[in-house]
Amino acid sequence: MGYEAACLRAADLYMKRSSLIALLLFLLSLTMLPSGAAGQGVKVVVLDAAHGGRDAGVLSADGTAEKDLNLALALLVQRELQGTPGLRVVLTRAGDTDLSVEERVKRITAAGAAAVVSIHANGGFYKEARGYEVYFSGLRAPGQGRDESSAIIGDMTKTKHLNDSVRLAQGLQRNLEKVFPKEGRGLREAPVPLLTNLTVPAVVVEVGFVTNTKDRKKLKDEASRLEVARALARGIKEGLAER
Ligand SMILES: [Zn+2]
Repeated sequence: MGYEAACLRAADLYMKRSSLIALLLFLLSLTMLPSGAAGQGVKVVVLDAAHGGRDAGVLSADGTAEKDLNLALALLVQRELQGTPGLRVVLTRAGDTDLSVEERVKRITAAGAAAVVSIHANGGFYKEARGYEVYFSGLRAPGQGRDESSAIIGDMTKTKHLNDSVRLAQGLQRNLEKVFPKEGRGLREAPVPLLTNLTVPAVVVEVGFVTNTKDRKKLKDEASRLEVARALARGIKEGLAER
């Protein structure tokens, strides 16, 4: 092999090796990201339109199904949040599909969620019942009960998640108050199945009553529904910004 050919071959080997190293580094960087998570500094917010498919949720006498209102709102909130720096929105469902709690939890986990907002509309025995509610849960911590140190870490994680959930709930409450003045039914802690199965900050919002004429109109009318969606979007931004 001549000198030039040897040089070329060396250069070729060098190129091959450096591109191999680059490829390995790239693959390594992929494995360091939690599965499905966005890049550094980007928070994933999962919007969960509750119910769907055969599960209509609350049904009103005029045939309005809660599942449809929840989905319409989730899609609007996603649109409102689109383009927010440092935020990526993922939906658990984007259509009228059946989705079990387990499947929702799976999708939320796969998305690498930093926060979850599950959107519901309420149903009341009395037609007069109206307004909004925000729920959070005293979350189950991962690794708890295995040994002392993991229990302590579990407790710390639990406390942080709880604080983050409360902050998110407060952000939503503050903004929903503007579209449902004096109709807040409180910030509550409740063992909601979806929430107790999650280990990320999560809240459930009940955006008015499907069974109340005024609330139902507010959720069905395009202009007022957009206002509710904007309130939720602002609430999410505020609830995440304060961490
Ligand atoms: Zn519901």
